[in-house]
Amino acid sequence: MTKPLAGRVALVTGASSGIGEAAAIGLAEAGADVALSARRADRLEALKTKLEALGVKVLALPGDVVDEKAATEAVEKTVAHFGKIDILINSAGIMHMGTTEDTDLAEFRRVMDVNLLGTVYTCKAAIAPMKAQGHGDIINISSQAGRKTGPMVGAYAASKHALNAFSDSLRQEVGGFGIRVCVLMPGATTTEVHTSISNPNFRAAIQSHTSKDGAVAASEIADTITFIVSLPQRVNIDLISVRPTIDTSA
Ligand code: NDP
Repeated sequence: MTKPLAGRVALVTGASSGIGEAAAIGLAEAGADVALSARRADRLEALKTKLEALGVKVLALPGDVVDEKAATEAVEKTVAHFGKIDILINSAGIMHMGTTEDTDLAEFRRVMDVNLLGTVYTCKAAIAPMKAQGHGDIINISSQAGRKTGPMVGAYAASKHALNAFSDSLRQEVGGFGIRVCVLMPGATTTEVHTSISNPNFRAAIQSHTSKDGAVAASEIADTITFIVSLPQRVNIDLISVRPTIDTSA
């Protein structure tokens, strides 16, 4: 039986762990060929081997999304290798916690560079080939912090609010060319996201928050992604929040 995404090509950033890795697995299980981007080349190679065993074609593209050239080339190399790019999942991201007073501004900039600009670079590069194809799916992984905020998440929430605004603006620019843009806002999801937090106390708190009983599994975010890209072309889920049932306030 033909798989639902057979013949489609996806590029996933942040594919070396967590939501990005799960998204790549989910898309490959549904039959898509996949390009994998993140900095840890060893993880990408291990995932490539795993996905190839599913019978799909895989391209590992190690690189840093903060590097505009590398991020742009990830899209260009995907198109050069597979001949097109149907799906772009931007999952590369980092967390940060701390008061504004105590936050090193270099760290603040880094959060904006990875969470906002890294995604802007790949989106920008994907527009021309998707326009030429007359279709495309872009899913940007935001956060609950993209729609609300609180103390000590100024950098992270600002990056995700900005990502939401950018994504919705892009959606309105490219929808007429058949390109769908979606913002996916996960709540607590069990991944390695805590490892990106420099302060050890906040790192431990976020690890416990994202691994608590009832937290969403990365594979469940991946299922949502596969669902979104499987909808008929005329249907654009532009904004979706996926959070733990038990987590009514977070
Ligand atoms: P992980 O830490 O497991 O994954 C983050 C991924 O981003 C890794 O593959 C990492 O790869 C990649 N990454 C980080 N920095 C860079 C960079 N400079 N260049 C390229 N790749 C980079 O966390 P999640 O899967 O949880 O995070 C994915 C997204 O989900 C993030 O945007 C996060 O904000 C968002 N999110 C997560 C939630 C959760 O509870 N887990 C909740 C809400 C949102 P590598 O280190 O190899 O480069």
